[in-house]
Amino acid sequence: MQVKDITNIIEEFAPLSYQESYDNSGLIVGNANDQVTGVLISLDCVEEILEEAIATNCNMIVSHHPIVFSGLKRFNGNNYIERTVIKAIKNGIAIYAVHTNLDNVQNGVSFKIAEKIGVKNCRTLEPKKGLLSKIVTYCPVDKSEEVRQAMFDSGAGNIGNYDECSYNSEGIGTYKGKTGTNPYVGIIGQFHQEKEIKIETIVPNHKVNKVINSLIEAHPYEEVAYDVYQLANKHQNVGSGVIGELEVEEDEMDFLNRIKTDLKTDCIRFTNLKGKKIKRVAICGGSGSFLLNKAIAASADFFITGDFKYHQFFDADNQIIIADVGHYESEQFTSELIYEILNEKIPNFAVRLTAKNTNPLNYL
Ligand SMILES: [Zn+2]
Repeated sequence: MQVKDITNIIEEFAPLSYQESYDNSGLIVGNANDQVTGVLISLDCVEEILEEAIATNCNMIVSHHPIVFSGLKRFNGNNYIERTVIKAIKNGIAIYAVHTNLDNVQNGVSFKIAEKIGVKNCRTLEPKKGLLSKIVTYCPVDKSEEVRQAMFDSGAGNIGNYDECSYNSEGIGTYKGKTGTNPYVGIIGQFHQEKEIKIETIVPNHKVNKVINSLIEAHPYEEVAYDVYQLANKHQNVGSGVIGELEVEEDEMDFLNRIKTDLKTDCIRFTNLKGKKIKRVAICGGSGSFLLNKAIAASADFFITGDFKYHQFFDADNQIIIADVGHYESEQFTSELIYEILNEKIPNFAVRLTAKNTNPLNYL
């Protein structure tokens, strides 16, 4: 097992292109071709996690939070980030982070929290733009089914809960092969008109190259005509936070007490209750205050997240109840999520969850 085998499994689930621009998800320390003895999963990658990895014979750490966010200029061991990186390099340990791409992907961090607290029917609260392209190609009628299927099979055609979506229209393609060509139909040097199908389908950006390769392979022409357009559409299944519903309405205090238990937290900071039953719940793992207006617009009764500041709580404005359960507490199940992603593909490989709690906060 090589480092890249592990990262490929994770990136198949949570593509790196889904991460936010400020993020540093990916392989931070180590080489993709290094052999892996074992993988240790944690929320944070700090020195004590490195020590645990050494003690448990794991030479790769997969964490949610990247230990390095911005560039490091010195490696003197003067802070915990430098010390962690130095220790990893000295001990031959690879460090990999799957951060906002795991937040943004369907069935990612916030979906996991929803599962733990019984919020059902979840969808993305703020779908993300800039992730989709349209591929258009032109294919002789007799091969159009084959070409269309090849594009679907390599990742094109998904819209929400529908696969194999495309639009097909008939038209006339024209060409004239120069000397040395071998046209599928028509004669070299003669203007040719061919009845063709124009196939239009949608593709996530990170799969565009794969789909084009499959298209070219399946297409009968020597020179395949295709166009790739960047779409301004939002990707319905990729973005920040989730919104869903409780199966049965709950009283506000009952709900708060229940999530306090489910999220194993010692403290929930929350805004004024409204004396109403709770049904619709918005969730964002980690620091979610930027999604408050989206949660209100989606008519959520509650918004569960972490890292709200004093003045931001006022923005609830009696329209929603903000419940700040703590950053670590909200993301504590992320390690379990990463474990499940790996375990599904490599159930017999040494993948372990950290035994340590890396929360830097204590409550009194
Ligand atoms: Zn976080």
